[in-house]
Amino acid sequence: MSLSETSIIDVFRRHFAGERSGLVLGIGDDAAVTSLPAGRQLVTATDSLVEGTHFLPGAAAASVGHRVLAVNLSDLAAMGAEAHWATLSLSIPNADGEWVGQFAKAFAQLADEFGVMLVGGDTVRGPLSATVTLMGSVPTGQFVTRNGACAGDDIYLSGAAGYAAAGRAVLSGKTQFDNMQSEEQQSRLRTYCQRFEYPLPRVAFGVALRTVATAMIDVSDGVHIDLSHLLTASNIGAHATVPELGLLATDFDNDTARELFFCGGEDYELCFCAPAESAPEVLRLAAEHAVPVTRIGKAVAGSGLSWNQDGRPVAPAGSAFEHFQD
Ligand code: ADP
Ligand code: MG
Repeated sequence: MSLSETSIIDVFRRHFAGERSGLVLGIGDDAAVTSLPAGRQLVTATDSLVEGTHFLPGAAAASVGHRVLAVNLSDLAAMGAEAHWATLSLSIPNADGEWVGQFAKAFAQLADEFGVMLVGGDTVRGPLSATVTLMGSVPTGQFVTRNGACAGDDIYLSGAAGYAAAGRAVLSGKTQFDNMQSEEQQSRLRTYCQRFEYPLPRVAFGVALRTVATAMIDVSDGVHIDLSHLLTASNIGAHATVPELGLLATDFDNDTARELFFCGGEDYELCFCAPAESAPEVLRLAAEHAVPVTRIGKAVAGSGLSWNQDGRPVAPAGSAFEHFQD
């Protein structure tokens, strides 16, 4: 079934018909109107997903709808911000009602889970892509940047990194697994695909960390790359240890598993720094939010990021990983 622009907008409007504190005017007028309580600052992120670049041609509509919001939620989480309002710009080659319905349902489910209201957007015919602008807030001055880490700070990583890239490789058929997979392996492969298609950003944990983190970034490009961004912004270096690689260690040789960790990306975990004396508080918050957290290193004066694994120096190879890239 083909939908007109108006009926596409109606699909989204139906999912977001309720009222919300701070929402003055939502979908339907020329622009949305919202207000923030006194004492809070607006925090805004925007990210696009383009078919063939950020998702595979033919990817499930639900996955695209989920991810385009998830990647923005992750950016706000990394600022320590609560998310409130989103706008969605959707470009679709043909107004396929089934596709739009599944996209909107998944988008709305994730939005509900994180208290996000869709307040407007744009709908155009064109190559398949979706752009979300997400607005959130922090108490004035309490946002967490990339540039606040100091020498001596501990460096932490939430969850597991590398799984999403393994999932992307499985979905694109770029990994060579036996045809005769065991039940256990099939279940691990489903976990990887789930991490890629339906990532769950660490929003509540990111917000909680604003009391203790000196610097934070979300892992969208891979731990090595994103931690390097944080260190450069903070004007320091670091020594870090590759953590246990979890399921990856079962399905990949050590070099490949480590590359997935270093450069895989799209895990939407949080990488953050905190003073050494805050370690008990970091662990307490992690337990309170049921988020696994690993201390992976220490910031040092100077520049550069050096890694070791099981006591020996290692470095991202980059090229060994190329066959996983789209
Ligand atoms: P205009 O021509 O004034 O830009 P539109 O016809 O593009 O208005 O949009 C009408 C209303 O529907 C606006 O409030 C706009 O924000 C909203 N809207 C359009 N597309 C979307 C979308 N994909 N998701 C949510 N709201 C949308
Ligand atoms: Mg418009």
